[in-house]
Amino acid sequence: MKAYVDPDLCTGCELCVDICPEVFSMNGDIAIAVKDAVPAEAEEAAQDAGDQCPVGAIIVE
Ligand code: SF4
Repeated sequence: MKAYVDPDLCTGCELCVDICPEVFSMNGDIAIAVKDAVPAEAEEAAQDAGDQCPVGAIIVE
């Protein structure tokens, strides 16, 4: 699984960082995916973050 944050959509609410700190981190005012290859143990949390991002800025595939 891979995860990305669309920097044009992210509002910097930090929800994804709260849900899945293994993958998401703040970079100034926006979140980034620090590992684009999601570790197996973090896949569920990364998917949750993608589902819950209020602006749909997270792509997990
Ligand atoms: S949950 Fe979405 S809007 Fe909020 S910081 Fe993460 S990527 Fe950005």
